[in-house]
Amino acid sequence: MDNLILIKYGELTTKKANRSTFVKLLANNIKKVLGNTQYNIKFDRVRMYIECNDCKLIVEKLLHVFGIHGIVVCHKVNNNIEDIKSKVLELLKNETFKTFKINTKRSDKTFEIHSMEMNNIIGGYVLKNLDTKVDVHNPDIQVTIEIRQEGTFIYTNEIRGLGGYPVGVQGKGMLMLSGGIDSPVAGYLALKRGVDLECIYFESPPHTSVEAKNKVIQLAQIINEYSGNIKVNIVPFTKLQEAIYKNVPDSYVITIMRRMMYRIAEKLSILHNCKAIINGESIGQVASQTLTSMGVINSVTNFPVIRPVSCMDKLEIIDISKKINTYETSILPYEDCCTIFLPTHPVINPDINKCLLYEMTFDYEKLIDECINNIETITNLKNEEFSDLL
Ligand code: ATP
Ligand code: MG
Repeated sequence: MDNLILIKYGELTTKKANRSTFVKLLANNIKKVLGNTQYNIKFDRVRMYIECNDCKLIVEKLLHVFGIHGIVVCHKVNNNIEDIKSKVLELLKNETFKTFKINTKRSDKTFEIHSMEMNNIIGGYVLKNLDTKVDVHNPDIQVTIEIRQEGTFIYTNEIRGLGGYPVGVQGKGMLMLSGGIDSPVAGYLALKRGVDLECIYFESPPHTSVEAKNKVIQLAQIINEYSGNIKVNIVPFTKLQEAIYKNVPDSYVITIMRRMMYRIAEKLSILHNCKAIINGESIGQVASQTLTSMGVINSVTNFPVIRPVSCMDKLEIIDISKKINTYETSILPYEDCCTIFLPTHPVINPDINKCLLYEMTFDYEKLIDECINNIETITNLKNEEFSDLL
């Protein structure tokens, strides 16, 4: 195989005690995204190397892997001045830059041309063929030429990876995934910090449509590109939601509904070995997301609730959703169970005692158990059954 991709772990290396676990997990995650592509992988505690023929395809896939901070594509040629010249020129022709620098490292001392002389020969050749200038202090692009016994490796600037930690290093979290813009972004950000995901989606047919459900599955598929393990749990929420609307004053229905969602998410998290609930709440965005509302809703559980977008403005969240390709799906106009029968004046500062009182008026525990017992779980988002959703 002619090329070598060098992977830098970045932040991983600060966690000395866990480093080897992190690196093994990262290697497994990389193997998962690379699938049947032809390559060889080697790693130590500081770097990972992938030998391959088709670098472009592999780099594209690596750009979906958290825990990779830098990617350097090294092109291998024979230890022969003509081969080196033409590879350097070929690489530079594909880049946009004004100034450059050649940096030769000669570890094969049997190679007859010394490093400085190589810099001059290759630099001169580039200047003759391209409209550019040398800048040795602050070049737009640096070409490194490493001459080793097994061949010469040539590479230009490092490609920035996604950063973060390898997915799964923190175990799993339960993402409350709706069809909106915020929750897929919240899921992506949790994956970035090494939290693998299961999703929970509350549907209320016939009030919510099958299109709304498919939209959520599609969003899960998109963020699954960063994990590969994501499952979607679909909770039949209709009966519980109808009971809330029947028994609770209008202004409190959303608060109580969200307390029920948290209760169900916590129960399912325990059953499925998830260590936290993750959602797309953002402070002040709607009545149920004032700090008072969040407190009253959150008080039904002691489980950690992670809100990765809680301090972001909507426009910042939208920027990320565009970057990760969930935006176009999120804005499809299907109703979610939170938006049907929306009260005209939802309470902004709910009173916990009122919540407890309203919840005593119907047997919600039984309805919650019914929800849990009738969950539909989609375990393989890559199945053909769902492939036409993307
Ligand atoms: P938007 O992006 O339009 O704000 P949203 O999904 O964030 O949509 P909110 O009403 O702000 O809608 O809900 C806050 C959070 O609650 C969501 O980000 C999501 O985590 C969770 N949530 C809301 N509705 C559902 C649902 N039907 N199933 C699962 N989680 C939900
Ligand atoms: Mg929201």
